[in-house]
Amino acid sequence: MSKTLHILNPRANPALLSIVIPCYNEEEVVPLLRREIEAFAATLPCAVEFIFINDGSRDRTLVVLDDWAKTDPRVRLLGFARNFGHQTAVTAGLDVAQGDAVVIMDADLQDPPKVVHEMLARFREGYDVVYGQREERAGETTFKKITAWAFYRLMKKLVHPDLPVDAGDFRLVSRECLNALQSMRETHRFLRGMVAWVGFPQTAVLYKRDARAAGETKYPLRKMLTFAWTAALSFSPLPLRVSLLLGILTALIGFFAGLYALVVAIIHFFFADLGIPYSSGWASIMTLLCLVGGAILVGIGILGEYVARIYDEIKARPLYLVSYRRNVETPSAPR
Ligand code: UDP
Ligand code: MG
Repeated sequence: MSKTLHILNPRANPALLSIVIPCYNEEEVVPLLRREIEAFAATLPCAVEFIFINDGSRDRTLVVLDDWAKTDPRVRLLGFARNFGHQTAVTAGLDVAQGDAVVIMDADLQDPPKVVHEMLARFREGYDVVYGQREERAGETTFKKITAWAFYRLMKKLVHPDLPVDAGDFRLVSRECLNALQSMRETHRFLRGMVAWVGFPQTAVLYKRDARAAGETKYPLRKMLTFAWTAALSFSPLPLRVSLLLGILTALIGFFAGLYALVVAIIHFFFADLGIPYSSGWASIMTLLCLVGGAILVGIGILGEYVARIYDEIKARPLYLVSYRRNVETPSAPR
């Protein structure tokens, strides 16, 4: 299936570029990031602001970032009241960004800043979303590569056919597209899926994903699985349909098993003297009971997952709570 056709309107560089960087326990990375990104900012053709979100780090990340923000007014800092998760941290950054274009980036320098120049070039061509697509993953284990590969293919099926594979959150988003994203305040967030959903002219730039500059991944397998689960459930009714299909399948098996039992019983009743063996059927009953019971429970379980999410959405709690700000005004109305 080909993508939606758009007519592109070429435009100038953004007057202000916002770079959003969520940080969770990145104390070791921040000094490296600072050196790298300050040098990079000097090469940019436009003004820039850096928006850091400290996502409830347990190490000194907040202090290190605050020291930086004290000396550089381009650095704007939000400190979360606790760890709210990567996707929420990015959302908070997007909420305070003032730029005409926003770039989302990892703190660990896995997303090389120089790629932003290519993203800006595509932005000038008129694209509203320019996502970084990885052509190589250096310094990551085979296991991480395989799980990531499977993750992206599965997500494409579940979330949206336009969801690009091998693209993380490293991307440039225009103000128009950002405004659309801002209007989506769902609690369970999968930003990449949301970006695919809003549409807008989108394109990719290829890049080599470097190894982490320091520290270790904040996305262990457990978090990856939860993330995939959130993405699947908040975008797709497919798990419900699969459970329905499973139900139909077991019901069919049950029907034929019942038919067989009936036929055997009838034969046994009328032709008892033929000596057809007729057992009490304990094993088959047990098997069917487990099969049907299991299928019902799986179905209810998946339904429960959706109900739990509806419950979360209906509570409509704020997505995040900010307990510290520097170079960021306190919003007049709570979001
Ligand atoms: N991160 C965050 N909150 C979390 C987990 C991660 O803000 O709960 C940040 C982290 O500091 C980093 C980015 O999200 O800047 C991506 O995390 P990481 O690099 O560990 O993930 P990976 O690149 O290994 O998938
Ligand atoms: Mg990383």
